[in-house]
Amino acid sequence: MLDVKTSLYNTLTKKIEEFVPNEKGKVGMYTCGPTVYHFAHIGNLRSYIMEDVLEKYLRYVGYDVKRVMNITDVGHLTSDGDTGEDKMLAGARREHKSVMDIARFYTDAFMEDCRKLGIKKPDVVEPATNCIPDFIHMIEVLLEKGYAYVSGDNVYFDTSKLDQYYVLSVQKEEDLKVGVRSDVDEDTNKRNKTDFVLWFTKSKFENQEMKWDSPWGTGYPGWHIECSSISMKHLGEYMDIHCGGVDNIFPHHTNEIAQSESYTGHKWCNYWFHINHLNTKSGKMSKSKGEFLTLSLLEEKGYDPMVYRLFCLLSHYRKPLEFSWEALDNVAVTYEKLCKRIQNLSENGEEEEEAFDEWEKKFAVALGNDINTSSAITVLYDMLKGDFSDITKRKLVARFDEVLSLNLTGVFEEKPEEELDAGLTAYIEQKIGERKEAKKEKNFARADEIRDELLAKGIVLKDTREGTIWEKAE
Ligand code: AMP
Ligand code: ZN
Repeated sequence: MLDVKTSLYNTLTKKIEEFVPNEKGKVGMYTCGPTVYHFAHIGNLRSYIMEDVLEKYLRYVGYDVKRVMNITDVGHLTSDGDTGEDKMLAGARREHKSVMDIARFYTDAFMEDCRKLGIKKPDVVEPATNCIPDFIHMIEVLLEKGYAYVSGDNVYFDTSKLDQYYVLSVQKEEDLKVGVRSDVDEDTNKRNKTDFVLWFTKSKFENQEMKWDSPWGTGYPGWHIECSSISMKHLGEYMDIHCGGVDNIFPHHTNEIAQSESYTGHKWCNYWFHINHLNTKSGKMSKSKGEFLTLSLLEEKGYDPMVYRLFCLLSHYRKPLEFSWEALDNVAVTYEKLCKRIQNLSENGEEEEEAFDEWEKKFAVALGNDINTSSAITVLYDMLKGDFSDITKRKLVARFDEVLSLNLTGVFEEKPEEELDAGLTAYIEQKIGERKEAKKEKNFARADEIRDELLAKGIVLKDTREGTIWEKAE
């Protein structure tokens, strides 16, 4: 093990704390997986990139990590609470396919995105629909212990039985309403407004395709039970780190804790690691809004997925990150320069062990400070400037890339001119579109502003009968 202290912000205590695992040298880690009714958007992927860095950092300093992830292929309703319909069903209807086909297709697409982004596949990936008997068992125990009740046609968790329900930091008032909302679909079966469904039977979702027999009738599980059950199946009753995006804090993770600790009778997970959102100018990127950016779209526009990974690593995971094409273009340039610089390191000279150990540790110290990826990248730049042999630097780059996974050691191929321009082209086309919209709305001042913005970047717009074309200024 490297002799480095690991500090993590813990949503449970709202403090940065020293990380101490349950078992010396070992870490059990759980990640809420994607709901596979659509492509992952680059906001979701930000969360998985940062969780990947956490896992790889822990391995880098010498922990033996076991990471488990579920695939949500049933039970996540269109609201994060108990209202709406199953997202999978809505996805299947949208595409005129079966739920299983949708699940398979989008799970594969997600795995492919992860591969391109250098995200390691978790040690266990478990679709919720594989584990129905485990969910039923957990619900039976909760009923036996008096933490659940059957009402109407569903099984509910009784939050009034807990000493404290809101153990994780409470979000804004409107976030709280998501989990307890009753305006859309008044659920008169609930004893308390914060109670949530463990098992749906004959319910308002008549078209539900996926149903299983249970002691309470044919039905399907609620969303929250799957993570409690799948994590315990593979990691046991004590977990070190649970990860997810901040939108999962409430109600999902709050409900996971309620179920898990009532089931076991003791504390379940020690550290809660939450990644803040990727936003666009118009707000949080979200799948349900229907308009979102995918990794494939970025690739179509000519960006290497590694550029998006670096874009994420340059910001701290606890801060919201605003996406813009301009910012991505800047990172594309940074990435290219960095790779070239590494490629130019010579292969001569002696390996210098002392320098290697010193910088290996500096990199770990930067990340050990609540996974500060941008300072880890600063360490990389400082290391490249260091006064020691290139061959040692090459070795250190490879070592750092075990965590960064930016393909820094891959041979950096010169990209053809057109490909380098592709990012710029996408940006210009976006601006031309915005200008067209502005003109349509008779906002000529904004249209002129966009033309001038582009001109300042050396791009001249020409309005022709076929539409607006552009060229580089002489
Ligand atoms: P979902 O597929 O909706 O279950 O979400 C998968 C993961 O992405 C969860 O950990 C979410 O908390 C996270 N997530 C959702 N939206 C965003 C976003 N805009 N930025 C970062 N993470 C997000
Ligand atoms: Zn979960």
